Amino acid sequence: MKNKGSYPSEVYLNGEWMPPQEATVSVFDRGFMFGDGIYEVTPFYRGKPFHLQEHLERLRYCLAQIKIPFDITILEPLMFEALSRAGLTEKDAAVYIQISRGTAPRTHYFPDDIKPTFLMYAFPVQLENFQQKRWKVLVSEDFRWQRCDIKSTALLANTMSNEEAITGGYDENLLVREGCFTEGSHSTAFFVVDGMIYTRPEGPLILSGITRKVVLEICRDLGISYEEVAFPVVRVSEVDEIFLTGTTTQITTVGSLHYEGEEIFRSQKGEITARLQEEFERRTRK
Ligand code: PMP
Repeated sequence: MKNKGSYPSEVYLNGEWMPPQEATVSVFDRGFMFGDGIYEVTPFYRGKPFHLQEHLERLRYCLAQIKIPFDITILEPLMFEALSRAGLTEKDAAVYIQISRGTAPRTHYFPDDIKPTFLMYAFPVQLENFQQKRWKVLVSEDFRWQRCDIKSTALLANTMSNEEAITGGYDENLLVREGCFTEGSHSTAFFVVDGMIYTRPEGPLILSGITRKVVLEICRDLGISYEEVAFPVVRVSEVDEIFLTGTTTQITTVGSLHYEGEEIFRSQKGEITARLQEEFERRTRK
């Protein structure tokens, strides 16, 4: 069954806190018209931010890539305020930030001198027991654009893919472009073959996941070998373990992988995933 989700009790919109039903933007907001905006999701483990600076740096990068002028130094204190207003300072939660280019008469080119529309809110997240999950994952064609490094709110290709997965009884997608896995619809993918981890190198075809960075840091610290290389679908029969990572996905085991109705992978071992999960948990709960 689909999880319906829920609204937060308050949101911060363009400088003010308000209930979501009062938070409205113009129909000429470019976020509404074009998906002309970016977003970021930062986790807080029992009130403590996890790799906050990396999330802010990715936000800064994305704003710069699409040339939205915005002073990100205001964000950090507001994120803590969002948590505190939502009563989440002792709970596991995340802060959602969205910045669109703003409102102006509709043109394809970027209008000069408009004020970005800025939205933020905190929401509770279940960040426990991720080690127990075994996701059933659908292999789908990656038909997204070629700037997946930009965390754009224009997520139609991701949402169409994930809709197919969820209605088909799957938990997530693994996307494939030109014979190689790219990433999930909202997660990064890792493959383990004979003790070696493979993950796609950063670049325009994937989002530079913050959890991905954390996992690679853990690999270096624990002496687990990895290679940043695109993993071909035809090698899936050699794979021992697959896991997906993300801010809310954390490190989730792929239990099985399905392509055109056929199971093409079933998780056998899980030793490396388990070692990474254990260390990840330790670092998030420090
Ligand atoms: N790829 C995509 C397409 C995503 O939406 C996400 C989730 N933000 C990720 C990867 C994982 O990124 P992160 O670890 O920073 O949450």
